Amino acid sequence: MAIDHQLKVQLGKSGLYVNPIGLGTNAVGGHNLYPNLDEEAGKKLVSEGIEHGVNFIDTAFIYGVGRSEELVGEVIKESGKRQDIILATKGAHVVNNDGHITFDNSPAFLQDAVESSLRRLNTDYIDLFYIHFPDEKTPKYEAVGALKELKDKGKIRAIGVSNFSPEQLKEANQDGYVDVFQGEYNLINRSAEQNYFPYMIENQLSFVPYFPLAAGILAGKYTKDTKFNDLRAKMPHLQGEAFIANLAKVEKLREIAHSKGVEVQHIVLAWYLTQPAIDVVIPGAKRADQVLNNLKTLEVQLTADEIALIDQIFS
Ligand code: NAP
Repeated sequence: MAIDHQLKVQLGKSGLYVNPIGLGTNAVGGHNLYPNLDEEAGKKLVSEGIEHGVNFIDTAFIYGVGRSEELVGEVIKESGKRQDIILATKGAHVVNNDGHITFDNSPAFLQDAVESSLRRLNTDYIDLFYIHFPDEKTPKYEAVGALKELKDKGKIRAIGVSNFSPEQLKEANQDGYVDVFQGEYNLINRSAEQNYFPYMIENQLSFVPYFPLAAGILAGKYTKDTKFNDLRAKMPHLQGEAFIANLAKVEKLREIAHSKGVEVQHIVLAWYLTQPAIDVVIPGAKRADQVLNNLKTLEVQLTADEIALIDQIFS
């Protein structure tokens, strides 16, 4: 499906315009997160996404410790469409010699992190750079101040923070420099509605939800017999009674989806886009067909009754 440019939405007040169905790439080269990833399948899902109108691509240094950025950078270069793509990456992780991970938000570290990401992505600017996780020592306005300097130099175009507490977010944004916050949000975990959304709306920041499909259960394809052999094996919402209860809610979604001739994931993603704090979603994918399938969300119009019913099922 070709995406009409009219469909592009602004990320908060950042001046960046994106197709509201973006792409999360932690399974593209993210060998440290998912076992047995096929890099060619990863490259293909990014290239097919771009070909079919995905223009907001989310990666991070820690996805494959640089490998996701390299693969995404390669595909974007090969596409010849760098200028049409809004490329987001993140940094803060320090991988120590013994493999132990710590976080660093110091200005010197963030300057190096941006330069290293630019090299791996094989580009001369990053559209959106996020501080991936907070460290314990750096004042958050100082960390963001360092990114503002990089923005003034044209190395990055917008500033994001991720996994900050609401208080850290407010401190980070005390000079009004933050454009985007990325945090966990999906129909199963809705705490961001109270903890972040009011501040985001008041300050015109854009909330980018991660785990929008709750690691696949909101794509409606698991049953009580599904067994997980990757990081999903430890996720509480996919275990025991919680898993069974969540599957029952997904069946209610399926009825709504079927009545509209679409699939569960489409109404889930479309429902997020009705939230005033959210401009864009970044479902992850392991295969190109999933990326193309998620783009069908753009055809879904939820009625006010359907929006309320979905809210009620997961309230
Ligand atoms: P997610 O979007 O909730 O789930 C993605 C998984 O759902 C895919 O890997 C695929 O898994 C399945 N899926 C996707 N589309 C599907 C479709 N149409 N039909 C059936 N199954 C489908 O979780 P996520 O990928 O972890 O999160 C999204 C993105 O957010 C990531 O890629 C990453 O860029 C970002 N993220 C950021 C942070 C952070 O700390 N800032 C943390 C986590 C994620 P299977 O095929 O294996 O089932």
